[in-house]
Amino acid sequence: MSENGLEKEAYVYASNAHRLEAENKILKDTVTQLKGQLDSLRENPLMVCEVKEVFKEDAVIKVPNGNEFLVNLHDGLKGLKAGDTVLVEQRNLNIIRKHVTASKKFDVEKYVIIEKPDLSWKDIGGLKEQIEQVKEVIELPLTRPELFKKVGITPPKGILLYGEPGTGKTLLAKAVASSTDSTFIQLVGSELVQKFIGEGAKLVKDLFQLAREKAPTIIFIDEMDAIAANRIEVGTSGEREVQRTFMQLLAEIDGFDPLDNVKIIGCTNRKDILDAAITRPGRLDRLIEVGLPDKEGVLEILKVHTKKMPLLKIDLEKLSKKLIGLSGAEIKSVCTEAGYYTIRENKSKISLEAFHHAIEKVKNEELDKAHEIMFG
Ligand code: ATP
Repeated sequence: MSENGLEKEAYVYASNAHRLEAENKILKDTVTQLKGQLDSLRENPLMVCEVKEVFKEDAVIKVPNGNEFLVNLHDGLKGLKAGDTVLVEQRNLNIIRKHVTASKKFDVEKYVIIEKPDLSWKDIGGLKEQIEQVKEVIELPLTRPELFKKVGITPPKGILLYGEPGTGKTLLAKAVASSTDSTFIQLVGSELVQKFIGEGAKLVKDLFQLAREKAPTIIFIDEMDAIAANRIEVGTSGEREVQRTFMQLLAEIDGFDPLDNVKIIGCTNRKDILDAAITRPGRLDRLIEVGLPDKEGVLEILKVHTKKMPLLKIDLEKLSKKLIGLSGAEIKSVCTEAGYYTIRENKSKISLEAFHHAIEKVKNEELDKAHEIMFG
């Protein structure tokens, strides 16, 4: 063979050797990977269990069939809390490690209402004093935290709005979320208690985590009394569950910094039955009453809700006198009813007569509701 031919042959051998080396490496990697898979298949699957109560050296865990066991805690499990989930060996119930799922966050988002409300203070009629207080306690710390740092005071972590239904409590909370460009997360107390049996505490924990991630955030807890009612006896397992959820809520409120960009607004129609723990200093310690509107308030609410309505010549001040005693939500209903009446009458402008019909209808409905509450 010529010198040239030998060189070519050497070149072919060298490139083949190179290719085979590369193939060899790929095959080795595949073998390692398959070995890993085989090892994990040989391991016994671990159980996902819920932590019910944590003591100094042991904890009560709930296995998937509902049975509960007291198990030892090793040093690697410091900081474990009720409501956490853990991975547990099936044979001897040893806790291997805390279970952190990527889907947890997703779950909370499914169960609460999250929005960025677009509502101005001008959409609220009356409630001047309440608006001022909400601005001072919620808006100012979120928009000008440096003012608080400068004078060395800590703003409240949250407020409790209380008063009759339909008086604008939710409206106030949404307006402050809007003015501070905050995420508004709404949770309804009674739903938390009814829907999330066994999950309430976990949901509260995840909710606060979500709030921190989406900060600035207003957490709005409607029907606070469903979670935070004063219970003389905590007897049934349902009552214990609500109590656990409530304890988790208090722990979460205590756990964050007042200047953390997360504020809580609780809301209730039943302040009288609330557990004092929720309004203790450092928690929701600003209580703001939101009552039925006074004379000026009624007129302002009427103006808010008739702003976009094509009215015939109507003296709103005179009309507002007929609405005294109604809540903001009922005044809104009167306006909506007047609109429906106009549509039914095939008219394009809203008359005083339409309002008179609407007032009668809304007042009768209220009487029916009151009758039903009293006599069933
Ligand atoms: P609940 O205690 O039943 O949750 P609430 O006090 O939170 O009631 P809102 O949900 O704020 O009441 O009010 C219901 C609706 O009534 C509002 O969407 C709004 O249209 C109207 N409304 C109530 N109060 C006012 C107000 N002061 N100004 C303008 N509209 C009002």
